[in-house]
Amino acid sequence: MAVIGAGVAGASVALGLAREGARPLLLEAGGPATGGAGGDGLVRIGIDESPARLADAVGRQRAASVVAASVRGAAGLAAIADAAGVAIRRGGTVALAESAEEAALLARDAAVLTAGGATAVMLSAADARARAGGLGERFVGGMLVEDELVVDPGALLAALRAEAVAAGAELVPSATVIGTLDRSDGRIELRLAHDAAPVRAELVVVAAGAESGSVDRTHRDSVWLVRHQLRRYRRRGPLPASAPPAGSRNHGIERWLVPAGGAGDEVVVSGLRWIEGRAGIGERDRAPSPRIGEALDRLAREWLGELLTEAAPAAEWVTFCAHGCDGLPLVGGAPGQPRRLVIAGFGRSDLALPHALGLAMAAEIGGAPRAPGSPLGLFAPSRMV
Ligand SMILES: Cc1cc2nc3c(=O)[nH]c(=O)nc-3n(C[C@H](O)[C@H](O)[C@H](O)COP(=O)(O)OP(=O)(O)OC[C@H]3O[C@@H](n4cnc5c(N)ncnc54)[C@H](O)[C@@H]3O)c2cc1C
Repeated sequence: MAVIGAGVAGASVALGLAREGARPLLLEAGGPATGGAGGDGLVRIGIDESPARLADAVGRQRAASVVAASVRGAAGLAAIADAAGVAIRRGGTVALAESAEEAALLARDAAVLTAGGATAVMLSAADARARAGGLGERFVGGMLVEDELVVDPGALLAALRAEAVAAGAELVPSATVIGTLDRSDGRIELRLAHDAAPVRAELVVVAAGAESGSVDRTHRDSVWLVRHQLRRYRRRGPLPASAPPAGSRNHGIERWLVPAGGAGDEVVVSGLRWIEGRAGIGERDRAPSPRIGEALDRLAREWLGELLTEAAPAAEWVTFCAHGCDGLPLVGGAPGQPRRLVIAGFGRSDLALPHALGLAMAAEIGGAPRAPGSPLGLFAPSRMV
């Protein structure tokens, strides 16, 4: 068996397969994971969409099953991090509401999160303002999700990969898969860049994140690459390092206050769908767009006001994430192609769910019946046909 991509999804599938006694190959285009730059990645519960909106779309029970899987995934990742000595900040994250409508949505979110076994606590306006560290009167409420964690995503990924290798997976770094081919012997040939010798496998799991659609064309129309442009600003007035990150995610814009415990707090403003009136779907331009940058500056000034230490951002970067074309991840066998599985489309804010679903996918490959209440069926690629 071969798994393409050693992100959290692929490494989790490989870990699960290895625990089942298989010896999967884990092919990774990059080098070994070494630890991230910022150390402040959030392990969130659920998918990019609000839990209440997910429940509106797929039903409350299924949305709760997604939450339940995420809670399991977050706990599993925390255990791996603890065992590897990777620092984790527990204490949850706070979602902030700027209007009565947003507060009402958060209350509905809290109900779905609770139904899935997460611990979501609604905050009063005063409490939300206090947690937002002097951002004025704009916040009318909030929700604390206690199960969410803060961790260096790179260090966590390195620990997860090490766990997969210790269980028996073979990690092959600098192995970029450029295509797949059905062979007459029934196996799938994986072609590698740089004239490396091809690999043949009985079963292939595509877990290449935003590249999943180009690595295996079977998934080309269902996994979209979405361009994100982010800016990080510094603010005056540090929050206590123990304060949970607080943020809001509206209209495709993410704003997070993450206590940096150093020179000042930082906020990341992420430009996504509505700036320039459209999503950056399929765009591969790595250069930041000045127009999006200016719009993000405006948002930062509006949000932080006098707390903004300087107009220029402290950092700016462009990144590419995978989204299923209906907003949900894809997990399972492609229609008519039971030996080409995919696990991708987790967007920009998910580590817990791909971990849990990667392990669940591996168990099914190993022949285990689907666990009652598993959300795997919800993400089946067959829904795209
Ligand atoms: C900048 C950024 C910040 C993020 N911050 C957070 C956060 O704070 N909290 C959070 O929960 N989530 C965050 N995410 C999202 C989270 O990283 C993803 O949801 C999660 O990584 C999805 O995991 P994945 O394994 O599906 O994909 P990925 O993490 O994208 O992993 C895919 C892997 O496949 C490899 N690959 C790609 N193409 C090939 C190929 N052709 N051959 C072989 N290997 C290949 C890649 O090198 C990569 O290692 C962030 C993502 C980005 C990009």
